[in-house]
Amino acid sequence: MLLNIKELNKEIENCTKCVRLSQYIKQVAEKKVKRFSDQDYYGKPLSGFGDVKAKLLIVGLAPAAHGGNRTGRMFTGDSSGDWLAKIMHRYGFASIPTSQSSNDGLVLRNSYITAAVRCAPPQNKPTKEEMQNCFDYLAQEYRILKKIKVILCLGKIAYVTTCKLIKVKPEQFGHNKLFEYKSVKILTSYHPSKQNTQTGRLSWKDWSVVFQKANQLVR
Ligand code: SF4
Repeated sequence: MLLNIKELNKEIENCTKCVRLSQYIKQVAEKKVKRFSDQDYYGKPLSGFGDVKAKLLIVGLAPAAHGGNRTGRMFTGDSSGDWLAKIMHRYGFASIPTSQSSNDGLVLRNSYITAAVRCAPPQNKPTKEEMQNCFDYLAQEYRILKKIKVILCLGKIAYVTTCKLIKVKPEQFGHNKLFEYKSVKILTSYHPSKQNTQTGRLSWKDWSVVFQKANQLVR
């Protein structure tokens, strides 16, 4: 049955297909970390969000345990979200340059943010089976978002999952690569995780170059 975006998001929110991840996100939400100990964690699977008429689809790996899993929105409440919102705002894809909470007023324009896996995995490492379990949600989302011209993949797992989505063979992953297919263009970037941004693997300049290209491709 073909679902609309609201129905799909509801299904995702209630999903418990992966026992390990369902337990983990609840444990994290109960235990919390010291700096967020006064906050209520969301602690459920996350759907994507943004403009359903978007031409740009951004695919990440999975929600962060104390970022999206806490705030209830992908790329929200952590440093990856800060990097993403800032650059999206610069290129007109976001209404504000920050992403702090699910009610902060952030509106995405001509863009939609999603992920390969909807539950935060321990050490950011979902198993193959968990990725397989979650893949259908991305496939359904992609069918609903009919206007996508460019898919920006943040990290190798997002790239490999996107190749599966559009049924092409993955090439060697790297930063700022563009692969053009009949139906869609795939652009790749290193993920803006602290591991990459704090070690200099991903500089602000290199991050900007990718969004400049994405912006040109969807206009
Ligand atoms: S990772 Fe995906 S398939 Fe697994 S429980 Fe979460 S939402 Fe369901």
